[in-house]
Amino acid sequence: MKVGIGRERHEGERRVAATPETVLQMTALGVEVLIESGAGVEAGHPDSAYTEAGASVVTELPLAEVDVYCHVRPLSPERAAQLHPDQITIGLAAPAAELPTVAALAQAGVTAFALELVPRISRAQSMDALTSQALVAGYRVVLEAAIRFPRFFPLYMTAAGTIPPARVLVLGAGVAGLQAIATAKRLGARVSAYDVRPASADEVTSMGGTFIALDLDAIEGVGGYARELSEDRAVRQRDLLAPHVAAADVLITTAAIPGRPAPLLVTREMVAGMRMGSVVIDLAAESGGNVEGVVAGQDVFVRTSADDGVVTLVGMKDPASTMPADASRLYAKNVANLLALMTHDGQVSPDFTDEVIAGACLTHAGEVRHAPTAAALT
Ligand code: NAD
Repeated sequence: MKVGIGRERHEGERRVAATPETVLQMTALGVEVLIESGAGVEAGHPDSAYTEAGASVVTELPLAEVDVYCHVRPLSPERAAQLHPDQITIGLAAPAAELPTVAALAQAGVTAFALELVPRISRAQSMDALTSQALVAGYRVVLEAAIRFPRFFPLYMTAAGTIPPARVLVLGAGVAGLQAIATAKRLGARVSAYDVRPASADEVTSMGGTFIALDLDAIEGVGGYARELSEDRAVRQRDLLAPHVAAADVLITTAAIPGRPAPLLVTREMVAGMRMGSVVIDLAAESGGNVEGVVAGQDVFVRTSADDGVVTLVGMKDPASTMPADASRLYAKNVANLLALMTHDGQVSPDFTDEVIAGACLTHAGEVRHAPTAAALT
């Protein structure tokens, strides 16, 4: 069986779906690996490294000839339409956002696996690309904040005076948020964090951060409909967060809700209420943003209300792709581990009674298997 890895087509994407290490892993499964020339260069892997690992490097991947096609970014609808029913794809698919591609995959009869859909259970952790890429993003977001911040992160006690540590506030303490807390702590900042899940308090503390508990219970029971209640809670949440945001030098937001637009946690007014020179960096910018006025891929300067200064509001874009070597190292392992789960004696044959394989399957035999995506398409 042939496994193909193409150059990523999406502009700015620097990751690759296989490394020489995972080529070794895949060939040990008894499959043949074809990789498009130059696919791994940006991630630090020249063609020669893939050849040494046992892959065949080809100028143009013969898409119709591979049994399994591994990719990073969701395929374009045009590329998905070139596939045929006997083929399997493994990669990120962003099903909620890329409905035309999902429709094209189903129409082509492809068995498509979306790494976003891998169940978040212990057994599937080694295939969990959301976690591996969020780890990279959470690290990178702190570096991006630090280079824009006009002050040090650590405390300095020098003969010329004492410089206090930066106060970093992280909103959303999932995988990326926890990594941001750990990274900011390593740089010497004083870190506090908040998440809507009270269970995250222990994780924040274990990373060296101080958990902020908000009294959101006070509004429970107000309203009557889930939507109204939710809006009330969001307003109350912003009100309670406002003093913490105003006290922060650096604000990092990472809050997300799977398959939904990111929740708005910080208004423009709250940003304007920060001190001049502060930095706000929104990791959720590409899915609508946690901060009002954020633009993915851009720095926006917000005038402070108390003085004539500015706060830099950064919309993070493609954070994992900014660290292509380690992001690819982890991502490629996720891909190879999922492939290994469905490969037996050199044959790739998904067993749909396995909850990981069934859960990760987006399309199969002309059907969209992921119920929320199927519903969105009707
Ligand atoms: P995510 O990227 O979907 O969201 C990031 C964080 O934003 C979450 O912690 C979420 O609670 C938070 N959030 C959402 N709305 C918010 C709001 N209004 N205010 C504040 N915070 C808000 O989440 P994630 O990082 O992918 O992971 C979330 C959870 O999944 C965590 O509990 C994590 O430990 C768990 N997880 C489990 C596994 C596993 O068991 N294999 C793997 C990874 C993550």
